[in-house]
Amino acid sequence: MPYRYETHLHTVESSACGRSTGAEHARFYKALGYDGIFVSDHFFRGNCAVPRDLPWEEWVRRYCLGYYSAKEEGDRIGLQVFFSWEESIDGDDWLVYGLPPEWLAAHPEIAHATRRQQLALAHEAGGCVIQAHPFRMRDYIRRVLLSPQFCDGVEVANAGNKQPEDAAARIYAEERGLYMVCGSDNHESGFGKRDPEVTWGIETQERLTCPADYVRTILERRPIRLLCPESRLVPVEGTAVTESFWMDDAETDPVPTGRGWLFD
Ligand SMILES: [Zn+2]
Ligand SMILES: [Zn+2]
Repeated sequence: MPYRYETHLHTVESSACGRSTGAEHARFYKALGYDGIFVSDHFFRGNCAVPRDLPWEEWVRRYCLGYYSAKEEGDRIGLQVFFSWEESIDGDDWLVYGLPPEWLAAHPEIAHATRRQQLALAHEAGGCVIQAHPFRMRDYIRRVLLSPQFCDGVEVANAGNKQPEDAAARIYAEERGLYMVCGSDNHESGFGKRDPEVTWGIETQERLTCPADYVRTILERRPIRLLCPESRLVPVEGTAVTESFWMDDAETDPVPTGRGWLFD
C-alpha cells in the first residue's frame, strides 16, 4: 500500500511569504488523504519570518514555530509531520532533510555554509540535500545554477514553477542520473484556497516512520512515484527555458551550459 507525503511547504509562523499556519496545513493534507508532510520553511538566508539579529538558539526556537504548530495538530488528527528546511544560497534554493531542530540549535555554522559545506554538514549528521526547483526563474533568483555535485537529488516537479521549468529539470536530472522528487511549495492550504489538483508530493511504497526514512529513500534511490501530472515533465513545443549555468567546484565562477534542455 503506497503512502503519500508532501515534501515542500511553508507556514505563516516561520516564512514571511507563508499564508497558512502549520495546523491549517496539517488539516488540509489530512483531508486530502496524505500520510504526512515535511514542513520546509524558508531558512536563515531565505524569506524567513524571524529577525536575523536574535541570539541563535532563540532564532531557531522561533524558526521552528510553524513546524511545532503543524506537529501538534498532526499528532491530534493522525498526520505525520516532519521537520526540514529550505535555505537560499546566493539565489539558489536547497531543501535539507533529516536533521532535527536540536541539531540546528547546536550548529549555527549552517546559516553561513557554502553549498559544499551544507552538503557535508548534512551528510555528517545523517541528513541529505535536494536542490529545489533548479530551473525556476524569478526576480529573487539571479540565474539558473545547476550544482549536481552539491546535492543528493533534484526537485524536478514543483507546483509553484512554470511547466517548462519542470520539464527541463526532469531532463537534466535524468541525464545526470540524479534522484528525482516532487513537491508543492505550498504557502497556503485550505479548500477554496488551494486546488487539490495542484497539491503534489511523493508516494512511497513503505511508510516513512521518521525523517531519516526519507533520507534513506533518497540516498538508496528507492523507487517513488512523483505525484504530479505526467504532462508536467514533458517538453511542450514552443516553450523555452532561460540560459543556465554549471556551478563550479569553488562556487565562484559558474560556466554557461550552452543548453536549452527542452529540445537539445
Ligand atoms: Zn516562499
Ligand atoms: Zn519553497
